[in-house]
Order: sequence, then C-alpha cells, then structure tokens
Amino acid sequence: MERYNLFIDGRQTPPNSDRWFDSDNPFTAEPWAEIARGDAVDVDRAVRAAHQAFIQGAWPAMSASQRGLLLHRLGDRIAAEAARLAAIEVRDNGKLYSEMHAQLQYLPQWYYYYGGLADKLQGSVIPLDKKGYFNYTRQEPLGVVAIITPWNSPLMLLAWKLAPALAAGCTVVIKPSEFTSASTLAFVELLGDVGFPPGVVNVVTGFGAEVGSPLVEHPLVRKITFTGSDTTGRHINVQAAREFKHVSLELGGKSPNIIFEDADIASAVNGAVSGIFAASGQTCIAGSRLLVQDSVHDAVVEKLLALARSATMGDPMEAGTQVGPITTRPQYEKVLSYIDIALADGARLVLGGAAATRPACGKGWFVEPTVFTDVHNSMRIAQEEVFGPVLSVIRFKDEEEAIAIANDVRFGLGAGVWTSDIGRAFRMSERIQSGTVWVNTYRAVSYMSPFGGYKDSGIGRENGLDAVNEYVQTKSVWINTGAASGNPFVIR
Ligand code: NAD
Repeated sequence: MERYNLFIDGRQTPPNSDRWFDSDNPFTAEPWAEIARGDAVDVDRAVRAAHQAFIQGAWPAMSASQRGLLLHRLGDRIAAEAARLAAIEVRDNGKLYSEMHAQLQYLPQWYYYYGGLADKLQGSVIPLDKKGYFNYTRQEPLGVVAIITPWNSPLMLLAWKLAPALAAGCTVVIKPSEFTSASTLAFVELLGDVGFPPGVVNVVTGFGAEVGSPLVEHPLVRKITFTGSDTTGRHINVQAAREFKHVSLELGGKSPNIIFEDADIASAVNGAVSGIFAASGQTCIAGSRLLVQDSVHDAVVEKLLALARSATMGDPMEAGTQVGPITTRPQYEKVLSYIDIALADGARLVLGGAAATRPACGKGWFVEPTVFTDVHNSMRIAQEEVFGPVLSVIRFKDEEEAIAIANDVRFGLGAGVWTSDIGRAFRMSERIQSGTVWVNTYRAVSYMSPFGGYKDSGIGRENGLDAVNEYVQTKSVWINTGAASGNPFVIR
C-alpha cells in the first residue's frame, strides 16, 4: 500500500502520533493507501509554519504580480498532471474517471483566473468630506486560513478556496476529508516545483475531532473556509465565533429541480437525471427534489425511469460507466437508511430502492438509482440531505405552488427551472431562495460565477470576483495633509 505523510513547511512530515489510517477504494471496498493520522501537535506545527510564511520571508516580500505568476505556473502543472491526479481521486472517492478527469482538466482555470486577479486587488481613494486629509483603503490578506474539505470533489473544492486565498496573499493549512486525503497530498507536491515558498501551503490529514477541531481553534488561524455537512458547519461556526474568526461555509442542499408543462421535456428529464444520478447524487447541488407540474407528471416520470434504468453501473475507471459507488461506507449506509425512512413515511418507490448487486458492481458500495413518487414536501426524504442517488418526485399545479414548495426547506444552494416561457424563467429566478438558479440547464459551474448558499446552505461566496473578498480585510489610512490639530476633546 502507498503511504502518505503530512505536508508541513514544504516537506513530507511523519505524524506526531506515528500512526497511519487506511483509505479505502469504494469500488473494491478495500484499503489502498495509508494516510498520516495527524493530531493537535501537527496542527500547531503546520499553523506556525503558515504563520511564519505569512509574516516573513519570500511570500510577503513578493509582489502581487509575482504571486499571480506562481498561480499561473501551478495551473500549468495541474494541466500536465490531470490524468494522474484524477486516477488518485477515483481510487479514493469512487467517482467516475471521466468526471474527475474533466474536473482536473478544468481545474487550472481557477488558478489562472485568481492568478490574474492577484494584482488587481486594489483599494480606493475616498473623496472625503473633510479638508486637510488624504484617505485611502488597502485590501490586506487575512493571514492564516484553515481550509477544510469534504470527500466528494477534493481537488476542485480545494481550488475554490485555495486559489483566491493565495491570490489575496494568505497562507493556508488544509485539512482534507479523512476519506479522500491522497489527492490533496499528491497535489501539494506540485507547489514546490513551481516556486511557492515553504510554509505557504500545508496539509494535516486525519479526523475531524483530532485535526479539524484544533485547527479551527488555533489562535493563529484567522479564517476558516469549510465545505461539508451543515452539522459540522454549524459546529465550526460556533467555535469560530468565540474567537471572532472569519468564516465561510458551503454546506448542503435540498435543491428543487422544477419542470413546467411548457418545458422541453426531453431536455428537462436529461437535466433531472444529471441532477441526481451524476456522481451518484453525491454533490451538494444534487437536484434531489424533482418538482413536476401535474399535466406532465406521468410523462416525465415515465421518461425519467427509462433513462435511469439504462444507466450503466460499475467500475468508475471504465469509460462506459455512468453511475459509480458511494464514496464511504457510512455514507452508503446512510443512503440506504433514507430509503427505509421514505418508505415508512409513505413515499411510493418506483425505481431501485436497494444496494446494487449487479455483477459489474463487485463488492463496491453501490446503491441503485432510486426514485420515489407521491412525495410530500414535508416528508423527511424531501427535507433532509441524502447525498446519494435518491430522487423525490413532487407534484405541483401552478407557479405559485412551485415557488411555495421550492422554498419550503431550510436549505438554499441550487435550483433548476425548466420552461420555454421567458417571463416565467425570470419570475422563478427572482423568487427562488437559493444561491444559484439554472434555467433549462443543471449542475453547471464556472470559476467566474459566484457560488454559495442562502439560508442553511452556508455563508459567503466561492468563485468569481466575490470569492477573493472572503480572504481580505479593508484598512482605511488617513494622512494629515494640513488639517489643524484642533481641540483634542472633539472628534476630528
Ligand atoms: P463532514 O461535515 O463530517 O466533514 C467534512 C470535513 O469536515 C472533513 O474534512 C471532516 O474531517 C471535517 N470535520 C469533521 N468534524 C469536524 C470538526 N468538529 N471540526 C472541524 N472539521 C471537522 O462531512 P462528511 O463526513 O464528509 O459527509 C457527511 C455529510 O456531509 C454527507 O452525508 C453530506 O450530506 C454532506 N456533504 C456535503 C458536501 C458539500 O459539498 N456540501 C460534501 C460532502 C458531504
């Protein structure tokens, strides 16, 4: 088995505990790598390395343009290593090689975009209402950033945080998911190649309680950026609040994908399948609630079942595979438990509903694409994030009811609207409470377009110009150019 160490101050470092834990391949259900089991001592070392790199040495001495150039070079290195990194991701998280490779090929764009932005972060001159002063603002990096990532798309979700953080001039300590740490450790090896000074990026692998928690609490960490479950996100938010730390959280969703009777039904059904069965439903933007207008409900369900039934399951490395395994054993068990919950609540199972036992699935953690109809929005299957290939179909009669159902959930990450009526597209986009609305498409993302949650789906934005603001703070500088000193007991 391959063994992976921590990455601290530019070097592979064995863990303080002298212990490693297994990382499993979800397709074989067997361990394939050993990952360093970090603890609070390692966290302290990594944060101190990041802090040193932030306050002295090559990194703070660099111009923003030089930082941008490093990000560009990193993008080039990722492009050259895309196939190798994608294969590691598949071994760890079981997602399709075709999907992970496409993600890795697209990934350099984040580093190019934020590399280009690094030297365009500028303050402004304020046209003050007071004579005798010159006032301007500076955009300064926050300091050491803790990046905590989940298992579903480790390197892509890392890029959404790392690229803007580095562009802003921060230094970072990354804590990847204990289920999928290998690709992050392989990726950070590229940083030294392109000239990032040691300590700018560090990685401490291990478990939430042993690494994540001490990282969030470390006094030298000024910002935490997290993607994962709302339960952990809430916990982190409370911990961070005690120390007045900056936080951005990208949490889960229960996204409505809404099909109106005037939609192009074939495209809408394609979008519904992509929304819930791509990545085996393991995406925060899964369109897990399919809202269908009464008049087209039966036709949509019929087409949906036909398409879902034809999905090829099996080895995620095979080019023809469309649905891979569930990434972790606990997640596999969680998905199956939600099928029981939906049945007990009275939803009607019309497809799947069990672990997949097809020969091509071997011993992997597969769940059959599952569809429930007759779902009421108050059922747990419609309110709670499953994070698996389980779709709830909910009927509605008109636009008002579609809006009411779409918004009747505590999450607000994504939403799809399928219609040929342009007015309706605008009305729906305005009234749906979510950070992203897709019209006549689904599951599209870009480094250029802000992404994040309304309500319990999170705080802050990733991607686009907005993201870099999550890593800077504004300083206001006042220069006296000739104002009289005046009465010391009166505000100037
Ligand atoms: P999680 O929230 O438990 O873990 C995410 C990350 O947080 C991991 O790196 C984990 O080690 C770390 N962590 C755990 N406890 C921590 C703590 N107390 N302090 C700091 N860090 C801590 O999520 P998970 O186990 O990866 O998945 C569980 C559920 O989360 C899934 O079933 C799914 O619903 C949801 N999820 C959401 C996303 C998303 O993109 N929004 C991604 C993966 C999982």
